[in-house]
Amino acid sequence: MKTYILAIDQGTTSSRAILFDEHREIVEMAQKEFPQCYPQAGWVEQDANDIWLSVLAVIADCIQKAKIEPSQMAAIGITNQRETTILWDKKTGMPVYNAIVWQSRQSDEICNQLKASGYEDMIRKKCGLRIDPYFSGTKIKWIMDHVEGVKERAMQGDILFGTVDSWLVWKLSGGVHISDVSNASRTMLYNIHEDKWDDELLEMLDIPKSILPKIMPTSHVYAKTAPYLFFGEEVPIAAVVGDQQAALFGQGCFEAGSVKNTYGTGGFMLMNTGNQAITSKHGLLTTVAWKIDDEIKYALEGSIFISGSLIKWLRDQLHLIESASESETCANRVKDTNGVFIIPAFVGLGAPYWDEQCRGAIFGLTLGVNKDHIVRAAIESMAYQSKDVLEAMKEDSQVEVSSLRVDGGAVANQFLLQFQSDLLQLPIERLATTEITALGAATLAGLAIGYYQKEDLKNQSGTITKPEITLEQANAYYLGWKNAVKSCRTY
Ligand code: ADP
Repeated sequence: MKTYILAIDQGTTSSRAILFDEHREIVEMAQKEFPQCYPQAGWVEQDANDIWLSVLAVIADCIQKAKIEPSQMAAIGITNQRETTILWDKKTGMPVYNAIVWQSRQSDEICNQLKASGYEDMIRKKCGLRIDPYFSGTKIKWIMDHVEGVKERAMQGDILFGTVDSWLVWKLSGGVHISDVSNASRTMLYNIHEDKWDDELLEMLDIPKSILPKIMPTSHVYAKTAPYLFFGEEVPIAAVVGDQQAALFGQGCFEAGSVKNTYGTGGFMLMNTGNQAITSKHGLLTTVAWKIDDEIKYALEGSIFISGSLIKWLRDQLHLIESASESETCANRVKDTNGVFIIPAFVGLGAPYWDEQCRGAIFGLTLGVNKDHIVRAAIESMAYQSKDVLEAMKEDSQVEVSSLRVDGGAVANQFLLQFQSDLLQLPIERLATTEITALGAATLAGLAIGYYQKEDLKNQSGTITKPEITLEQANAYYLGWKNAVKSCRTY
């Protein structure tokens, strides 16, 4: 009977199961949203059991829709929202608190204390991260400090911690407690150079080592699914990878210097830096991309807080467009932005500026400016922000970049891709498939069990957009952007 690889893409708002065949083509998929909780301003939580049940539901839905037997799943690969933190009881499997989601700011105060105690440098060196509530370490401490009895139970060895990948593997396997290097590198507890949990960091946050999962490679058979889940079938769980690293792999960025950018709600750019963990001088993060066969590959990462969500804002708040796709029609109706620049610093500016107090602005307004100019400036701002991050990556890594691979909802916009190509003076490569993250997880799982071979990873079909303006023109545009950013900065 024909077999398939099942990718589980456990995202921030929904879970998906996607079935891939031997050609790495999608055969079937299923998706389910699950509830979010916002207990206080800036806090974002999810019920860890809702996450688990949504995953189980989409697996069942997907194999049912594909009309296959559970035995036709050759392996499962998991990719997940990163940094989201879950603590659960080792014996009962019950979460002791909601999952604290990556965006949640409730450990702000803990981060401020770490900064005041001068830990910033050590954390950058060991973990490649900035001190920020994003990362799991301070979220674990928050739960241990705020949920009655948890600290004591953790000290007694009764509590387990996991990012979403660990939680899902634990539930799927009936108790195997592991995580992979790509997820561990987002916890602020993992030493990316030594490839292990770091005692000094654990002590800094007062976290007992016994709660931590065992760190494993990204592509590896960690466990089999518990027989009671799929009618006795024991399916190998063969890959675990954080969503952005999965996208880097799915994009085929295997060589040092290859870069991908995701244009979703926010933007995520990652550059493969090979065997080198490069410490950024421009506020980028250093992270583990993946570990395969004992070999670790590193990446530089820069995030853009507002990317496609700016287009949503034009639609829902300013009512300048009726749909996201209409933005392309508007942009194409004018020959330029008529001197308008939009700085989408709605929640401050991230890499490479890191100006938290900065707020958004529209520059260059005259009586000649119309709606189309503003919409065009919004799309262009997505490209300008990506150029800012790419320039920082080039300086940090000192490698020449020969193309940019792109994915995310906004790559449906060809005007964006053309402007990005013009601005960077680089070809922009877009794969035919849109499910890049799941493709990355499925491929890593398939490699682990020999379902895919390394040769299968070549020849992905897609489109290439090439620059159509001169370097001088591109530089002139970019200078305009830089000046607008300068006017907006708070320091
Ligand atoms: P996420 O996974 O981060 O939730 P997606 O990758 O699905 O997001 O991308 C959705 C974003 O892409 C939305 O913010 C939307 O405004 C933007 N978007 C979708 N289509 C277009 C388009 N044609 N032009 C510009 N932006 C778009």
